[in-house]
Amino acid sequence: MATRQNHLAKVEMMRENMRAAGLMRERFPKVSGIVIHMTYYQRAPGSVLMERTVNFYPSGYAYFNMRCMARGCEDGGFDLAPVIRGLVKKGQRSAKGYLPCRGAGDGHASIAYRIDVSYCRKSAHRLSPAHI
Ligand SMILES: [Zn+2]
Repeated sequence: MATRQNHLAKVEMMRENMRAAGLMRERFPKVSGIVIHMTYYQRAPGSVLMERTVNFYPSGYAYFNMRCMARGCEDGGFDLAPVIRGLVKKGQRSAKGYLPCRGAGDGHASIAYRIDVSYCRKSAHRLSPAHI
């Protein structure tokens, strides 16, 4: 029972975090999509746990906190928000990097990521009726 309540509390907290993160089109109006490719490693690099690709659309939440897949990891995860904010701010299209799980601190898991950002085409703005 406690476990289930715990789980529900976590789900609720996650929903709240997502709402707080806001929608993609509000946070990043120039972005038409983001793709995050991740390879999860457990402990030593080389032991691939899984690979995952996550897509973000303008109508979705700008929530880039990825869950840690390691068993028993409580408060870990990988926050890609700072990377993505930096990318969009500079108008860059992609970034690669490596992040350790921020939980536990024993290096039990990490991800290698590649982020691809697509921007809305400028031509869409030229259709604005400014000169009509
Ligand atoms: Zn973890």
